[in-house]
Amino acid sequence: MEWSAKPGEYIPPVRCPQCGECQNRFSGRVSPEDQTFEKIDCMVCGRVFNPEEYRGLVSDALANPASPIHHLD
Ligand SMILES: [Zn+2]
Repeated sequence: MEWSAKPGEYIPPVRCPQCGECQNRFSGRVSPEDQTFEKIDCMVCGRVFNPEEYRGLVSDALANPASPIHHLD
């Protein structure tokens, strides 16, 4: 998958459907101009998110900030 974001854009942690943890791992390149992630998976169980699923989960997380959110650097 590819996921692009603006530099400094906030990306909320999303819950893994498999283990329920909100520990996302981003693989890709980050430059001052843009951030492009080739793979986003779960740091805990290794499940890889597919792009449609991830987009939906991010939308949900932004719409329902249920728990305190920590910014991922
Ligand atoms: Zn997981």
